[in-house]
Amino acid sequence: QTRPESLASFWMPFTNNRDFKASPRLLVSAEGMYYKDVEGRAILDGTAGLWCVPCGHAQPKIVAAVREMVGQLDFAPTFQMGHPSAFDLADKLMAYTNGRFGHVFYTNSGSEAVDTALKIALAYHRARGEGTRTRLIGRERAYHGVGFGGMSVGGIGGNRKHYGPLLPGVDHLPHTHNLEKNAFTRGEPEYGAHLADELERIVALHDASTIAAVIVEPVAGSTGVLIPPKGYLKRLRELCTKHGILLIFDEVITGFGRLTTPFAADYFDIEPDMMTTAKGLTNGTVPMGAVFSKQFIHDTFMQAPAGIELFHGYTYSGHPLACAAALATLEVFEEQKILDHAKSMQPYWEDAIHSLKGLPHVIDLRSIGLVAGIELEPVAGKPGARAYDAFKKMFADGVLTRVTGDIIALSPPLTLEKQHIDELFGKLEKVLRGLD
Ligand code: PMP
Repeated sequence: QTRPESLASFWMPFTNNRDFKASPRLLVSAEGMYYKDVEGRAILDGTAGLWCVPCGHAQPKIVAAVREMVGQLDFAPTFQMGHPSAFDLADKLMAYTNGRFGHVFYTNSGSEAVDTALKIALAYHRARGEGTRTRLIGRERAYHGVGFGGMSVGGIGGNRKHYGPLLPGVDHLPHTHNLEKNAFTRGEPEYGAHLADELERIVALHDASTIAAVIVEPVAGSTGVLIPPKGYLKRLRELCTKHGILLIFDEVITGFGRLTTPFAADYFDIEPDMMTTAKGLTNGTVPMGAVFSKQFIHDTFMQAPAGIELFHGYTYSGHPLACAAALATLEVFEEQKILDHAKSMQPYWEDAIHSLKGLPHVIDLRSIGLVAGIELEPVAGKPGARAYDAFKKMFADGVLTRVTGDIIALSPPLTLEKQHIDELFGKLEKVLRGLD
């Protein structure tokens, strides 16, 4: 009996719920690159949990830091109070983000970070006396979490359909993905920096003086690893600057080394005005998110007339355990040279992905940093079924992958070695060859 009775009453997210109940996949422990399932089988982690364990599971230093903190300071409010590690972490994060930002606001998740950034953007314009700037712009095929703000700017119809009306005054830029032009390209595709000019169309429609912010994932993760064309983000930056619109990068997935640089902002060499992150921030151990903002945004609130302030925050913002975990994560990044290691593995990883070209049903392979998407031809009338079948077969064979539609997404812990790449792609090739 490996299936606990309580599974009957545990409400699992995601749509393939029913199938899961029939045949649950239960993880009970984790170390390094591997989970163990309830039957004691080792499961190679091809997805860093849910894109959130860059330093590998049960990283001893991070585990010890959390243990120590829980015995020392179980909780401390960060409203009108503070604790040293919250400030220490802020300083370290300022350094880790290469001095791009002046301040960081702590949240408990990526969704909260996104909603926080949107609220900061709206309040910022009001604090400057530009209260007409209330419109928000997201992008099609973007995922920004499940809060009402994130759902509204997010670009996945299915995520929104039961929850409307959502935020008013939201437009979506078209997504940049073009399977025909881009299939099997490594890194950034060459076409379409001009796609960012779509922002001009929205500005012409509504007038720049009504627009508060544009939010984009530099590389869309959850919707299938969609890599922007060369120059797209740079052009978006130029247009936002031209029109006084804040640019927010949602780096919940791309942050903490996924592209082998600290953030995607470093990889693409772009300066967003705000940046959201979560996941890898604590190596997945304790829930935490964060919003980074430029100094000028913070200064605006400090200099605004009395009565215009940011009333926002969460009970658990800057929780001592989360701060301890994040501090230890940053130390591990530095001491173990996680980014250097990720860079050294990247060519081997990329070659392994592109070696799948020509296998049955594979219609695109895309990769950047240590993240990859493998797009399969959908079965007629059954979107997502083929990739889900691959996911189940991979798990049966001892590898955790992630599927989204007909795309298999891979994003292993950055501590992986060549042997893990060989294991993952050896099994993947076998599974792909055996798919109906
Ligand atoms: N933004 C992005 C880009 C994400 O990938 C995610 C989660 N996958 C979120 C926001 C939401 O984060 P969370 O699930 O921690 O709320």
